[in-house]
Amino acid sequence: MSLQSKKSFASLDYTRCDPSRCDPVEGLCAAVPACSHKLIKQLDGPFTSPVIFQDMCMGCWDCIEACPLDAISATHIGS
Ligand code: SF4
Ligand code: SF4
Repeated sequence: MSLQSKKSFASLDYTRCDPSRCDPVEGLCAAVPACSHKLIKQLDGPFTSPVIFQDMCMGCWDCIEACPLDAISATHIGS
């Protein structure tokens, strides 16, 4: 279980995330280009919430800085 060995990773709050609000024109997630590790993708295209591949997250928090709606936060698990 990769997530159990992981201590910190970015998590998306789908109740806050709204691509039509953060980018009303193109519906593109600002966190996607912010992640230099390419771990955030809008798998279903523009105007859909992105997916974060948490098991590879480096915990740099660039995506948190990039999201204008504060929909991404740091999750810490483990001892
Ligand atoms: S994570 Fe943030 S920047 Fe990305 S689509 Fe959701 S609200 Fe917009
Ligand atoms: S914390 Fe860093 S590595 Fe993890 S998803 Fe966000 S930008 Fe990518």
